[in-house]
Amino acid sequence: MDTVTLDGGCQCGAIRYRITGAPVVVAVCHCRMCRRANAAPAVAWAMFQQSQVAFTAGKPATYASSGEGERGFCPSCGTQISFTATYIPGLIDITVGSLDRPDAVRPVLHYWDSERLPWVRLADDLPRHAEFPPFE
Ligand SMILES: [Zn+2]
Ligand SMILES: [Zn+2]
Repeated sequence: MDTVTLDGGCQCGAIRYRITGAPVVVAVCHCRMCRRANAAPAVAWAMFQQSQVAFTAGKPATYASSGEGERGFCPSCGTQISFTATYIPGLIDITVGSLDRPDAVRPVLHYWDSERLPWVRLADDLPRHAEFPPFE
């Protein structure tokens, strides 16, 4: 099996990362928290084991967006990079938009569809979950 490597980073380049191996899951989140943090109508996330992700330049600043979750971002340019939470121990979400090649991964589901903006209709037939999807 080929070893997949995904590189990415923030807009100004202060933060760079390298990911080894395939994502656990790639999904589009429609929740209000992601929308606000990213100032975007919806946010695509690629989830990995934390051990798969190495920061090769800089390190994200963090903001505790809730009692459970922490968002990593570039303190210089503001690009949202990561999300970690107590309910997904050992895992880290990386913003698909911060990948050098965001087209290298594809979402397989939507979540928090209950908070989706009514005018956001992506043309796909992927499963849509009202809230956080069932997770093993
Ligand atoms: Zn930056
Ligand atoms: Zn979200």
